[in-house]
Formats: sequence, structure tokens, C-alpha cells
Amino acid sequence: MPACIEWAEERTRECAQTEDQGYRDCCEWAPCSWFCDAWVWVSNVVCVLWTWITTVVCVAWDVVTTILNAILVTLESIIGWVISALAFIIELIEMIPVLGTLVRWVLNFITFLIATVLSIIDAVLGFLGIRPEKILRVCTVILRDEDGNPVATKEFARAMLQLAVDVYKRDANVRIVPLGPFKYSTGFLAAEQVNDNWVIIDEANSDSTILEVPCNADGTAAEWWLGGSAFQWKASTLCFYGAWRRVLGYGAPVSCFIIRDIPGSLGCALWITDYATIKAEKSVPPTSPRTLGHEVGHASNLWHVCVDLDNQNLMATKTGTSVLSPCDPSPSSTEPDRAKPRMNNWQVLLVRASKHVTYF
Ligand SMILES: [Zn+2]
Repeated sequence: MPACIEWAEERTRECAQTEDQGYRDCCEWAPCSWFCDAWVWVSNVVCVLWTWITTVVCVAWDVVTTILNAILVTLESIIGWVISALAFIIELIEMIPVLGTLVRWVLNFITFLIATVLSIIDAVLGFLGIRPEKILRVCTVILRDEDGNPVATKEFARAMLQLAVDVYKRDANVRIVPLGPFKYSTGFLAAEQVNDNWVIIDEANSDSTILEVPCNADGTAAEWWLGGSAFQWKASTLCFYGAWRRVLGYGAPVSCFIIRDIPGSLGCALWITDYATIKAEKSVPPTSPRTLGHEVGHASNLWHVCVDLDNQNLMATKTGTSVLSPCDPSPSSTEPDRAKPRMNNWQVLLVRASKHVTYF
């Protein structure tokens, strides 16, 4: 069932609950009770009517995107390669340390601004409860170590991907799809089932330049030097199909690299970059199944929130983010629930406004 209709059912139930409560709270004496009952009745009609209108718009938009996607995905599958070959030339410049990083950051920031402005109307509709399905493309790569051994199994990557796929669909009505041609999608189907084809195991060996990359300040330093350069090379070659989207920003895929170690962290995404890193583990299930979804969240405009507000929040950490959602005291003694994450309403709106999350 499309998410639009599931939400309609939920909201219709809420309308009925509010109505029942309204009648119970009404005054007992006439004529006060007459006016009160009439008011509650009218409020319920408005509530139900509004749910109907928003649902019709939501479903209609799902129909439109389904049809347009069938056409556009076919076109992109045929000519996307050519446009991506052109974009690859720009990405070659982006591989140069310092200068390339500068080009990428400036380009990514400008395309972020444009995407944000373009999604204002959609965000307002989303705020009102009209949230037709959007798409988010991921390109998941497992690196090989110096001896040629993949740092993680496909099973490990699949577990992380499936959780992200389910949470983004359930909470934000965002369909996560693997980057590639002929990936048709429609809001009328349930979330994707992740299989091995979603995961690329790099053919080449890597060294510590990209196998062991810290986060935060040290990670940013690496991003401006050989690390950023190497990740860009991997993204441009292994996730080539998304090159034109990466350069233009529209529906840019998020490249998720599973690497050997991220000292002090489980994953990392610097927001401004189109890639995220995830710390590999040998065992399945992962100790932090949410990490891939969490890092994609960073790439899609989300910051950390304090775990004390909701330990199940996808972005919950023990410190939060200093200005926006600090923990007090910090760090908190509560551990985030990394197995059953969820997004709150404003996070959903921010993710849906991201340049990585688009209708087409
Ligand atoms: Zn984080």
C-alpha cells in the first residue's frame, strides 16, 4: 500500500480520537453544550476533509512520478552514460588534492543552496502532511586491504543497507535505491529488498590512505589531501553512473565506503561531501546496524541530537551537537539504540529537502 494511504488511515483515526475527546470535554449545560457539540462536529469534518485532500494530492503525485520515472529512468539508462562521461572530466579535476577538494566543496555548497531553494514548496507541502515518495540513490563499496582481502562481507553491508532502506521508507517515504541503470521505482510498492547486487567489492587493493581515515578535524584534513583524492577516484570509477548527478547535485548518489577503521568512530560523513565512510566489522549482524543510515543522514542535512531526547533517534549520540542539540551533562550516560532507529518529523523534512533526495 502506498505510504500516502497508510498515513491517511492513521490521520483519520486521529481525527476520530480528537472528536471523541472533544465531545467528552464539552460543557454539560445548554446552550453551551449545543455550540460545543456543533464545534466539535465541524472540526472533525474539517479534519477528515483535509486528510482526504492531502491524500488525493499525495497519491496523484505518486502516479505522476511513477509515469515520469518510467520515461526518465529509461532515458537516463541510455544517455546517462554519455553525460556522466562529460561529468567525469570535471571529476578528474576534483581528484587533485586541495584544488580538487576546493572545487568539490564549492560545487557541493552551491548545488546544496539551489536544491534547498527548489525544494521549499515541497517542504511546505511536506509540513502539511503531503509527502509523496522521493528517491535516494546509494552506491555501496567494500574496500580491499593491502593483501587483497575485502574488509567486510556483502552480508555485513546488506544488513546495514536494509535497515536504512526500511527506516527511510517508513519514516520519510524516501525510497533508497542502488545506483545504476533501469532502476524503476513507484510509491505504490513497499521498500526495496537489498540483495548482493547493491554492494560493490572494489577490485583493487587500498592502503591506509583510505582504509583508516578518522573523522572530524583529522578527517577533514585527509579530505583536503590524499584521502579525498582517493575517495573521489573510487566514487568516479566505481560509481561512475552517478557522475553527472554528483556534479550537478540533483539526486546525487551518496557513496558509502566500508573501510577498515575510523579511529574513535563507527562511521563518518562530512555533510559537504557526497561520500560517507563506515567502519567494517568481521561479524554479522553489525554491532551498530544503524551506522550506514546515520551517515547517509549526515549527508542529507542531519546533525546529531542528544540521546536523552530520544535514544532511538537515528542521529542520537551521547554528546549531541554543541549548539543545536547539546547533552547536559555531556556525555550522557544513556547509550543510543543503534538497532531500532527512527527519524522525527523535522528530520524527515530536512532529509526530504536534501539534494540527494529527489522525485526523479
Ligand atoms: Zn554522526
